[in-house]
Amino acid sequence: MRELIDRLKAERTLPDRELLLLLTQAGSREREYLFAQARQVSQARFGSWVYTRGLIEFTNYCRCDCYYCGIRRGNQKASRYRLEPEEILRRCADGYRLGFRTFVLQGGEDPYATDQRMVALVQAIKAAHPDCAVTLSIGERSPESYRLLRQAGADRYLLRHETATPSHYARLHPPAQTLEHRMACLWELKRLGYQVGAGFMVGSPWQTADCLVADLRFLEKLQPAMVGIGPFIPHKDTPLAQFPAGTLEQTLLLLGVLRLMFPDLLLPATTALGTISPDGREQGILAGANVVMPNLSPQQVRKKYSLYDNKICTGEEAAESWANLDARMRAIGYRLAVDRGDSPGIHSVQTDMEHP
Ligand code: SAM
Repeated sequence: MRELIDRLKAERTLPDRELLLLLTQAGSREREYLFAQARQVSQARFGSWVYTRGLIEFTNYCRCDCYYCGIRRGNQKASRYRLEPEEILRRCADGYRLGFRTFVLQGGEDPYATDQRMVALVQAIKAAHPDCAVTLSIGERSPESYRLLRQAGADRYLLRHETATPSHYARLHPPAQTLEHRMACLWELKRLGYQVGAGFMVGSPWQTADCLVADLRFLEKLQPAMVGIGPFIPHKDTPLAQFPAGTLEQTLLLLGVLRLMFPDLLLPATTALGTISPDGREQGILAGANVVMPNLSPQQVRKKYSLYDNKICTGEEAAESWANLDARMRAIGYRLAVDRGDSPGIHSVQTDMEHP
């Protein structure tokens, strides 16, 4: 197994059979070895810095009906909200003072978020904070919409592919939502010059090790700048409420594998990882992740952006606790960077990152 890990590190890929072996048979010793190699690769690129993104969950209205998601259209119990642009700008200003240099606007596919409104919002954020990156995560839109948003100044776009296996995708989504369309969006975003983030849930219902290998193969083709992975966590008011959550162990294993396959990757230790384990994000960093995305949304709406049960939404994960999060990162030998945190090789407008 160690030989497989060494080969993955050297060659950045393995045949299907060996990837399957690694994903299903690695014992605790081998996992520790994998994480040590992943940390080495990550530190060679990023040092001991962890990039931060201020996450603003600006609307939980959604026209999609993903079977796993708490803000799906069909969930009548969801209490809906959307933030006014002024409030979003206030949260960006607060975030800037704390040290954030990337703002992620994430939301359901809200028909109110028209191109005109989103273009104005992106322009306003870029005008107020020209040294910051804006990331959008607002789902599937038309090529023209993506073009307008890019022109307005959006730098990055997160759109998890969710699963690269069409039959699996079809079990997680209604027929109107197709993998083909989601992937076409990702390719279009890439063509437009966004730093693109794909990704998937770990341990989603019906996911097999073959599905995970297909996910890794798709990522090899797409070559995204970022990959967001986190455990599936059931939400009580969704059709998949009865399925078990994905595990911390499997998510960490995949983070380690992803780091060895894609040394330059922006790889977040996600909120979902912090939800299934109190030190999940620290463990994620120690398995090869290099990004954290604390919540910058106003306190009163955080609970309403409920994608899954028990999402952490007070305390350490709150953006206000930058100092606490920094202390947690320092405790494991890392520090939060005051930096846009672009993909390596992409020129950042201004960097005020000091070195440890
Ligand atoms: N609407 C945008 C989109 O489709 O990309 C962004 C919002 S969507 C809620 C963000 C991500 O949340 C999804 O890509 C999905 O992977 C994740 N998510 C949704 N429900 C989840 C669950 N029950 N457990 C873990 N992650 C979940």
